[in-house]
Amino acid sequence: MRAAVYYGNNKVEIEDVPEPTVSAGHVKVRVSRNGICGTDLHEYFDGPIFISPEAPHPLTGQAMPVILGHEFSGTITEVGSGVTNLHEGDRVTIEPLYRCGTCRPCRSGHYNLCNSIGFHGLMADGGMAEYTVVPENMIHRLPDSVSLEDGALVEPMSVAYHAATLGEVNDQSSALIFGAGPIGIGVWFALRGLGLTEIDVVEPSPTRRAAIESLGARTLDPTAEDVSAIVADRTNGEGVDAAYDAAGVAPAVQSALECVGERRPLISVAIYDRPLPTPLINLVLRERRIQGTICYTGDDYRAVIDLMARGHYNTIGWVETIPLSGVLDEGFAQLRAGHKMKVLVDPTT
Ligand SMILES: [Zn+2]
Ligand SMILES: [Zn+2]
Repeated sequence: MRAAVYYGNNKVEIEDVPEPTVSAGHVKVRVSRNGICGTDLHEYFDGPIFISPEAPHPLTGQAMPVILGHEFSGTITEVGSGVTNLHEGDRVTIEPLYRCGTCRPCRSGHYNLCNSIGFHGLMADGGMAEYTVVPENMIHRLPDSVSLEDGALVEPMSVAYHAATLGEVNDQSSALIFGAGPIGIGVWFALRGLGLTEIDVVEPSPTRRAAIESLGARTLDPTAEDVSAIVADRTNGEGVDAAYDAAGVAPAVQSALECVGERRPLISVAIYDRPLPTPLINLVLRERRIQGTICYTGDDYRAVIDLMARGHYNTIGWVETIPLSGVLDEGFAQLRAGHKMKVLVDPTT
């Protein structure tokens, strides 16, 4: 079968590899779509970061080389022994987290914080291939009304949904989102799904603003508008109930800390690749707080799939599909240059 294999910095090959074989407690999935994530770009251009060059991962036993891809959907073609409630032909999406089940975060249900966490597609052969084999506890079945294209977006939309819920918001809340990339868009959809109507998205790029506006969002251009003044005006000087940083740059964090209300959180859902000069005095004086967020659990997957089944997610204008042979030039290079938003790979082409 064909697969995108990671061999290290700037080295990904599209090549023929043996098809994986199913084992007990696992299922074999014929991949339909696999999304390219910012993490994949980091591994390719700046890595290896999460992928281990030599030491096998404690839960998967695998190190480099590895087949990329942790955001995917597909159809089950074979089930291993002991798997009773999944069947050949089931349309599924994958929650790609390996977790130990015994560390403190795992025992408390927060297995997204597992001390030994591993990703299918970084620490084990992933979904940028015609077939992949996963443990049955990673599988979520898709309702008939959810397409396999949407199914490949459940993973990033669950990252965003988990972040949205950590803002402790309800349908009366106001929110501010910094960054209209795929995660910012996902936070907007999640907040809408939670019933919020007062949401502004702060984004300097005109094309990204246009994309999220066409989904129905209200935007602010921080290069031309005074975000703090506008937010103060809209909230009677009280500030928003939650701010979300999906941009990961200093001006966004600084602005967010000016705009969030007293005793309310800034949710950080960005990858900060360097320290920021953050004015923490803005936290102290108003008892504001910064809350990190990583990944998701099955609850977030179920909530996103449920919203998708009700037609909540519109992918027009920000999601496109490319063939596996185009991963590097049509995918990684275009995404790195900021020319595309979300790219799904079809491994059969
Ligand atoms: Zn990802
Ligand atoms: Zn654990």
